[in-house]
Amino acid sequence: MIPLVEARERVLAGCERLGPATVAVDDARGLVTVDEVVSGEAVPPFDNTAMDGFAVVAADTVGAGEDSPVRLEIAGTVAAGSSGDVPVDPGRAVRIMTGAPMPPGADAVVMVERCRVTDDGDHVEILAEVPAGNHVRRAGDDLVPGDVVIAADTALGAGHLGLLSSLGHLSVRVTRRPRVGVMSTGDELVEGPVVLAPGQIRDSNRRTLLALVAEVGAEPVDLGIVPDDPEALRVALTDATGHCDALVTSGGVSMGDYDHVKAVLGELGDMSWMQVAIKPAKPLAFGTIGRVPVFGLPGNPVSSMVSFELFARPGLRQMMGHHDWGRMVIGAVALDGLPRRADGKTHFVRVRLETDPLHDVVAVTAGGQGSHQLSAMAASEGLAVVDDGEGIAPLGVVRVIVLDGLSGPMPD
Ligand code: AMP
Ligand code: MG
Repeated sequence: MIPLVEARERVLAGCERLGPATVAVDDARGLVTVDEVVSGEAVPPFDNTAMDGFAVVAADTVGAGEDSPVRLEIAGTVAAGSSGDVPVDPGRAVRIMTGAPMPPGADAVVMVERCRVTDDGDHVEILAEVPAGNHVRRAGDDLVPGDVVIAADTALGAGHLGLLSSLGHLSVRVTRRPRVGVMSTGDELVEGPVVLAPGQIRDSNRRTLLALVAEVGAEPVDLGIVPDDPEALRVALTDATGHCDALVTSGGVSMGDYDHVKAVLGELGDMSWMQVAIKPAKPLAFGTIGRVPVFGLPGNPVSSMVSFELFARPGLRQMMGHHDWGRMVIGAVALDGLPRRADGKTHFVRVRLETDPLHDVVAVTAGGQGSHQLSAMAASEGLAVVDDGEGIAPLGVVRVIVLDGLSGPMPD
């Protein structure tokens, strides 16, 4: 057996960052920038008001208060989207809405709650003294021309897409999104609600792995089920490398007589077959056909998911240009302990996480831990990393890889 870290290094060495592509901002979430994005203009583009109220000359408000209102003549209204071209002279005020440009002559805004319009509607009583600049958002407050808005190698989130849009960009240069083919292998596999013949089972891995590929931010490509036949595998793998940037297969990589995936991968490319010191997911066949990495994951449903997390996810993220390849790892309290026996392997135990803002995160087993028991995997929120030895005593702290799908109540 080889240590997990060594197996992962071998995998990462075969996963090159893909080339750049220009994509629509709409399609860029989760992709990684190639160049820095520099602002060509000021944001906001003009001085504007942060509040609804009245634009005034600040000096006019000296001494104003609830009991000593200052009376100004209303010269007009400027709304968001208007040019703002209603001059404000001393003794006058302009009604103004959030986001509207500051009218010429005005240097402050009095919020509407500190203003009282007279019954005739012609005047406003200012009930507070305000300094120059009050509630004014200056042009370039957020960005000025030449600012680096987004650094190279940034994973684009929703806020970045907004930033790009605020500068008028419709597209952005990023590391290309990989197309990742997912293939199930096995003579026993069928799909959908058909009546099972003796010995058959339904393919579950493909749906799971396609979803995990999509969650990574790659484009999943369904390559169907391929039988345990070397020629069929040869054709399917060769064909797939023509239109995919990476392949994820499940099944056919352990010690059985019909585990042909590792053999065919070895023929077609540069492949290492590894027995990794982990449980579940010990066997792994990783290879490259040309420059296309192939993750040959084990067939047991839990093993294929754990193997995806530990090897395919980091590899695919590296191809996408990410610098952090994994998920968040936290320390959690193993309430009832996570006992195990020493066997030279690191165990990845499917756990549920109980979170409470004022207490430590608590990890409890999610159910049956067999590598075929997908129900506990589906119910789990994390993989507890239990090092070789006797396991974790009750109330001991364990590292947990936090899986997707955690949510909880909003704070008050
Ligand atoms: P293998 O890695 O091919 O030896 O398969 C190990 C176990 O996983 C066997 O019990 C298979 O029937 C099962 N298995 C393989 N592929 C799948 C799949 N796509 N969906 C569900 N179970 C599978
Ligand atoms: Mg098989």
